Amino acid sequence: MRPELVALRNHPDVSILIIGGGINGIGLFNELALQGIDVLLVDKSDFSAGTSATMTRIIHGGLRYLENAELRLVHESLRERNRLLKNAPHYVKPLPTTIPIFTWMSGMVAGIRNLLNWPTKPGDRGALLIKTGLTLYDLLAGRKSPMPRHRFRFRKAALAIRPALNPDILCTATYYDSKITYPERLCLELVQDAEAACSQAHALNYVRLQSAKGGVVVLRDEVSGENCEVRPKIVVNATGPWIDGANQAIGRASEFIGGTKGSHIVIDHPELVAATGGDMIYFVNRDGRICLFYVIDGKVLAGSTDIPTDDPDATCDEGEVDYLLQSMKQAFPSIKVDRSHVVFRFCGVRPLPRSNALTPGQISRDHSFPVLPPGNGINFPIYSLVGGKWTTYRALSEQVADAILRVLGRPRVRSSADIPIGGGKGYPRLPQGTGLPQERLLALQERYGAGADRVAAYMKASPDAPLANHAGYSRREIEFMALNERVVHLDDLIMRRTLIGILGELNLPLLKELAAVVSRVLLWPEQKTAAEIERVVQLFRKVHGVILTA
Ligand SMILES: Cc1cc2nc3c(=O)[nH]c(=O)nc-3n(C[C@H](O)[C@H](O)[C@H](O)COP(=O)(O)OP(=O)(O)OC[C@H]3O[C@@H](n4cnc5c(N)ncnc54)[C@H](O)[C@@H]3O)c2cc1C
Repeated sequence: MRPELVALRNHPDVSILIIGGGINGIGLFNELALQGIDVLLVDKSDFSAGTSATMTRIIHGGLRYLENAELRLVHESLRERNRLLKNAPHYVKPLPTTIPIFTWMSGMVAGIRNLLNWPTKPGDRGALLIKTGLTLYDLLAGRKSPMPRHRFRFRKAALAIRPALNPDILCTATYYDSKITYPERLCLELVQDAEAACSQAHALNYVRLQSAKGGVVVLRDEVSGENCEVRPKIVVNATGPWIDGANQAIGRASEFIGGTKGSHIVIDHPELVAATGGDMIYFVNRDGRICLFYVIDGKVLAGSTDIPTDDPDATCDEGEVDYLLQSMKQAFPSIKVDRSHVVFRFCGVRPLPRSNALTPGQISRDHSFPVLPPGNGINFPIYSLVGGKWTTYRALSEQVADAILRVLGRPRVRSSADIPIGGGKGYPRLPQGTGLPQERLLALQERYGAGADRVAAYMKASPDAPLANHAGYSRREIEFMALNERVVHLDDLIMRRTLIGILGELNLPLLKELAAVVSRVLLWPEQKTAAEIERVVQLFRKVHGVILTA
């Protein structure tokens, strides 16, 4: 059993137990640690291995929510977007976004009906509606917004910049949101910052909520298979789309979630990369649903779908791949994109509140935290974190922390609003005196922000060499992550510490090479290393539509 779990066995009392290490559970963990509260967070898998890793990777105000008249939500999201641009500048970067527009007046009637709280299925959005929306969006971002205001371009000017755009456009509108390059790493940094801020804050990956009785919660160490008991005053259920299942496991049935699955594909297609002109393309599909695509590290990320599901482990199906490919053809009809260009796919389930909305897109993306009081043989209250966006995790965490502090009778001692996160502290700063070439230092800065100092120092301490199968990483850089970043399984490294998985860069030789480097420093026996390789092969085949070959 891991030493942290042995310590827990000896000291099972904890004020707050957070179940679920997605962005919302981790955000709350960080918030409570800043207030000096003893808090334990557990996740059945790796940190941010659930919905939080399957997002479109944009930090945004939610232009589309204006159609549902959710002005407060858009205002809050824009404020949090602006904060993340400031507090996590190493990962959150401005992203110009261009909307191709095909009509002048469409969507006005539906827009007015929605504003009057008379929900109507959205269809095409014309220039006037988009102009109104973007003007409001700029206003809600506030006068101090770090982003430029939106601008329109008529057809000729728009096609001069992006000649491959659908020639049927009348004009385009360009506005600014932001992208997050490493959401999974930002989650890990929030965990590490929280533990550094409070000696009584502990987060453990691969520990599953098993059951509960009276005041005791039973947790299972997914590594050793052993159980461990804790006695919390309050339980926070931050298990996203698994919320109702987790409440059921505690013995307090709930029906909070009405999830929708969303899939993305990653496309290797240099012509398409060039066609975007560096902007995110915000495309309204024939069914009225919005598709987004933009470039991450030389590949195009396209998504997402929005399909009701009861399965929190849903995967991307063939129909969704076709749908996303077809959306791209509508935006850039002259560019041939097909399945042979798809190098990766992934799917996540939005933990949305149960709803009777006409379409999934009309379900509010706002958050709430209903509380189940003690009862049914359970002595502690359960706060369930329902809905929300990655972008607004801090606002949700702050609100839940304040409610918990009131119950504990403890004061708020610090606000997280202006605290830089992880490698955002001191960014931009290039490591000094490493002897590494400038290009390599810039790559490290991109990956770790100001934390590149520590990585570069480790790399320098012993002879190092680029990986034989991926020149972008060196052996000691991978070792650093394995030793310092809570890597339990090989897929933690491939999927969440690096972009190797999502960019479709993994092949069998690289997988074996990574396994050899990791197993040497984590002291994995041969059999365990072979099992880890097989685990990744199966994961890629079953979940990401990739057959790993040489
Ligand atoms: C397709 C898609 C695109 C999106 N795009 C964006 C976007 O671009 N921008 C944005 O702001 N938002 C976006 N979102 C929304 C955002 O990703 C989610 O709102 C957010 O990630 C939810 O986080 P969470 O922490 O609540 O849930 P999760 O990230 O799912 O975390 C729940 C965790 O609980 C753990 N867990 C489950 N059961 C147990 C158990 N029994 N014991 C222990 N642990 C358990 C899971 O392993 C998981 O890690 C998108 C969502 C989807 C699906």
